[in-house]
Amino acid sequence: MSTLEKMKILTDSAQYDLCDYVSHHKSSQINLPGIYEAIGHNGCKIPLFKTLMTNKCKNDCKYCINQSKRNFTRLELSPEELARAFLGYYNRGLVNGLFLSSGISDDVDSTMEKQIETVSLLRKKYGYDDYIHLKVIPGASRDSIKRAMALANRVSINIEAATSSGLAELSSTKDYNKDILKRLSWINSLQHKSTTYPNSTHTTQLIIGANNETDKEILSRMEKIYKKSDLKRTYFSAFTPIEETEFKNKEACSTDRTSKLYNADTLINSYKYNVKELIFDESDKLSLTQDPKILAAKNMNIFPVEINSAPIRELIRVPGIGVKSAHEIVSIRKKKPFTHKEQLQELGVITNRADPYIKINGEYQTTFNF
Ligand code: SF4
Repeated sequence: MSTLEKMKILTDSAQYDLCDYVSHHKSSQINLPGIYEAIGHNGCKIPLFKTLMTNKCKNDCKYCINQSKRNFTRLELSPEELARAFLGYYNRGLVNGLFLSSGISDDVDSTMEKQIETVSLLRKKYGYDDYIHLKVIPGASRDSIKRAMALANRVSINIEAATSSGLAELSSTKDYNKDILKRLSWINSLQHKSTTYPNSTHTTQLIIGANNETDKEILSRMEKIYKKSDLKRTYFSAFTPIEETEFKNKEACSTDRTSKLYNADTLINSYKYNVKELIFDESDKLSLTQDPKILAAKNMNIFPVEINSAPIRELIRVPGIGVKSAHEIVSIRKKKPFTHKEQLQELGVITNRADPYIKINGEYQTTFNF
């Protein structure tokens, strides 16, 4: 089978991994295998080459197209083949970086070695110095993670679930604490120690709706991880049933659910909310229709807060005020108090959302009754 034919299959299998600023939609503009359109932090589109090294896998994740029990043609790209294929795209200006993941071909260590060899070839043999995101395999050795982090701008390990029992519903071959959480803590402790990429970051991903975990369990796990680590962000992949897998008849997860999980996760990660401040229904699920920040605010007894004196912790809990604008408010009011809401609008505050929750210089902005 030619490299291009292998790439078509392996890059297609990589679509379920969300990464960095990458959306999981394939590019509609460039019709070549493996090019995924990424959305940068400023909203611009960035093409990345995203692929698996192999679709062989020893694990039995019940939702996954590559799980060990499925019977189909397994194939693998060699490190040299993959490095050259990627450079073929990069040198033509078709992509700006590489996202490399893999199933487990023989064992975890040899799979990690193949991934490391690929990025090592790119860095050392071919002088490539742009973006690389490498997916760490559950159960990888500390030494291999360290070497991967010396070569990649970003690494990540998918925690997949929020609890051991939740992972056990998905797979019988991965140990949640040993293979995943322990590796996540190693990644965290090795972060910033790389002399090559001292600013490297790490992320993770969960699959949502494939097991019985509640939103509260998922967000509680993320709260614990954010408190203990520098994890940059979390991706929530909405479960979709795939033919010929054990979960083929399971209901798909709605993207409304993952969208609300993203909103709530931002409150925990960036706004430093505690999970107990968020509002869940009797089944520990977030509302699918209401914004978690507004729902939380309606249940807090701190409002309305005075813009000229409220602590930052309270300002960022006002709907319509973001972390950046809250800090700007604090810095500006030290020099001169705010007197009208147009000054807040200039900072990006969405005042028609914030009005019921604030006073400016003692003045209520609305007659909204709490
Ligand atoms: S480890 Fe699980 S999710 Fe990853 S490729 Fe193997 S079976 Fe699929």
